[in-house]
Amino acid sequence: MCGGRIDIAFILRAFSNGADGVVICSCWPGECHYVPEGNYNAASMMNLTRKLLAHAGINPERFRLQWVTASEGVQFAETVTSFTAKIKELGPLGSSEGLDEDALASGLAELTKLVPYIKIAKREKLLLHLKNVDDYENLYTDDEVEALFKEMPSYYIDPEKCQACGTCRRRCPVEAIDGDKKIIHIIDQDKCIRCGTCLEVCPPRFSAVTKLESGPVPPPVPDGKRAVVKKKG
Ligand code: SF4
Ligand code: SF4
Repeated sequence: MCGGRIDIAFILRAFSNGADGVVICSCWPGECHYVPEGNYNAASMMNLTRKLLAHAGINPERFRLQWVTASEGVQFAETVTSFTAKIKELGPLGSSEGLDEDALASGLAELTKLVPYIKIAKREKLLLHLKNVDDYENLYTDDEVEALFKEMPSYYIDPEKCQACGTCRRRCPVEAIDGDKKIIHIIDQDKCIRCGTCLEVCPPRFSAVTKLESGPVPPPVPDGKRAVVKKKG
């Protein structure tokens, strides 16, 4: 319905499902029927997507955002024709990139898993409405996208502080936290999407969740040592 509804994850899903190219057609900037003007969000989101594809080793030319409204039949046909020709020139996904099926699948899966974190980390830029739509082209630099991955935080529950109140487990959007009543909670780092919700919701009187900006995450407390020692007072 709206270009602004197209999420990075939708594009990655199309590639994961075997598409060799993806084109998004959205109404022209300034011609949105609605107040939020979603096509500006689309411009920001899609330019970030292009950078992320490049980071994953996928030629960003396999993805295009085209301004074309429902009444512009000729423009739409030209878009599809030229884009199809481009994708034929590039060949099947991975062929011109030198990526085999397994490398492609794991790269796309890893990127898809990080989409919520990326959207949180870049939320301010994703909501920008720039007057000149061409300025979105340079909104995200290569260094910035590189830093997204290099500086990705991890979250850790301190077993000495966790009081097993269960708040983080209930609020984690991907069920990455294991625990029970009177059982110290632990984060499954493979499932964690680094949204930071556990840090936000852990009651201040416990402050058991830490955001780790760098370095390895301490190993989880062994099962036999997960009984909570209740704090006094
Ligand atoms: S950061 Fe915390 S709440 Fe978010 S996915 Fe990871 S464990 Fe769950
Ligand atoms: S919210 Fe904090 S105290 Fe409660 S279970 Fe999670 S880490 Fe432990």
